[in-house]
Amino acid sequence: MIDVHCHYEDDRFNEDRDEVISSLFQNNVTAVIDAGCTIKDCKMISALAEKYPQFYFCAGIHPGNADEFDENALKELKKLWAEEKCVGVGEIGLDYYWENNPPKDKQKDVFVALVNSAKEINKPVVIHSRDAIGDMLDLIKQENISHGVMHCFSESKETAKICLDAGLYFSFGGTCTFKNAVRANENLLYIPKDRILLETDSPYLAPVPNRGKRNDSTNLQFVIEHIAMLWNTTPKEVERITDENAKRLFNII
Ligand SMILES: [Zn+2]
Repeated sequence: MIDVHCHYEDDRFNEDRDEVISSLFQNNVTAVIDAGCTIKDCKMISALAEKYPQFYFCAGIHPGNADEFDENALKELKKLWAEEKCVGVGEIGLDYYWENNPPKDKQKDVFVALVNSAKEINKPVVIHSRDAIGDMLDLIKQENISHGVMHCFSESKETAKICLDAGLYFSFGGTCTFKNAVRANENLLYIPKDRILLETDSPYLAPVPNRGKRNDSTNLQFVIEHIAMLWNTTPKEVERITDENAKRLFNII
């Protein structure tokens, strides 16, 4: 199983981070891709990637931290992007949900700047979009964003179609196992299987039956079982398809 979106730098792993990460790779997790949301976090996950062969990372600035982006931050990011274990630019995007987030225009400017950097270095982008899908779709079209993934995707089928036509992938995690996950389940049946990836967003969004607890990548098995049921196939087959997709998009072996 490959977890394409997680946050092992989170404070909730401070007590037992190394124990948790090493246990993943003894429990059927082939690789994880951790997404950095601040320069500090990106440096921390880069160090983890150096320590564990199956630990990869993406480096970016989360829209909630858009104020952190300046010339110096870009310089730091460029160093991180050049590292061998850095497989993408993220997480980046737009988040209009939290009132205290930087203004919309600032978020858009930073997102566009990072998308352009990703194109220059030919790495996929990991996109976070919350309560901002209108502006996000405009930017996807305007900036020709075609190489990347919409993380924790829970938008409409119409939105999925636009992102699909652009060439983007979609990652699904614990929320698709929740009782009210109508949209996620519709999308899992609508989107072609070769564009679907698995994520946990650990330590957040643990799937049923561990909902509410601290999440880690071993919980992907519950997401896989859920998708296998929807697709009327075996968990092994879901694992095989999504692993292949993750390797293709992020160019990992
Ligand atoms: Zn995330």
